[in-house]
Amino acid sequence: MAVKKRRRKTNSSAAYPVILAMLAVVIVILLIITAAAGSCSKGSDDNETTSSAQESAGTTPAESQGSTSSAPEETSAVNAVVKIKYNAEEDWALYVIGNDNPLPENFTVETKAVAGERTLDSRCADYAIQMLNAAAEQNVGLFVTSSYRSVQKQAENMESYINTLISQGYSQEEAKIQAEKEIALPGHSEHNAGLAMDIVSSDYWSTHDDLDESFEKLPQFDWLIENSWKYGFVLSYPKGKEEITGIIYEPWHYRFVGLKHAEKMHEVYESTGEFLTVNEYIEQYIDME
Ligand SMILES: [Zn+2]
Repeated sequence: MAVKKRRRKTNSSAAYPVILAMLAVVIVILLIITAAAGSCSKGSDDNETTSSAQESAGTTPAESQGSTSSAPEETSAVNAVVKIKYNAEEDWALYVIGNDNPLPENFTVETKAVAGERTLDSRCADYAIQMLNAAAEQNVGLFVTSSYRSVQKQAENMESYINTLISQGYSQEEAKIQAEKEIALPGHSEHNAGLAMDIVSSDYWSTHDDLDESFEKLPQFDWLIENSWKYGFVLSYPKGKEEITGIIYEPWHYRFVGLKHAEKMHEVYESTGEFLTVNEYIEQYIDME
């Protein structure tokens, strides 16, 4: 193209204004392309930090039309967080239960035995049984100390624990505050929903009056972290997430969220070393629309 221009230049001096005009047009086009590319990449950064994948998907194709060279970057930014579409039927077990998220007043649950007298929601009981059997086959004896608990039983537990704390020197008010940090309010517990189990080893259970953090040093804890997700269960109250859950770190408490979500939550743990709470998981990975 440059050669052609030079030839035309030597052939006729009358062509100068035309060539200058063409050069001006080329420069203007180059400037427009550069500006468009700049604004596109800035747009994709903004999308990564402030918008959900849904929103980015909506705005990106229109923005990237101005410059095809930045299209691959846009695509990878959108793929970084692809939310899983919520399906009420399949995802029945994926919901937050806590002090700010009570079960509905009329909540009822059909239960099924998982270990001795311990029961769970019948829809997840078989997964729990499979998990306990798998551990037993690998000589990792798991012992379920608590599972489904009625709201009434939860209220009794709370009252009894408040009384224990008072007997240890807490005032009535202090005891209530402390108890609510350790025990969910009646109707606000994953145990009331029939989704959660407290799991330790029988040795641990026979030597500890209360469940405490020392359980995390036992092989049963390691096994649960490595395997519970395969059966749809996750650690509900991770260390460092007390502000979000409102509950102390409980290395013994596992709840059912379903196979697909437990696997995804485990994947996040494997890649980041961070246990998400169910709350965080829903916010970051689930499209509830
Ligand atoms: Zn528990």
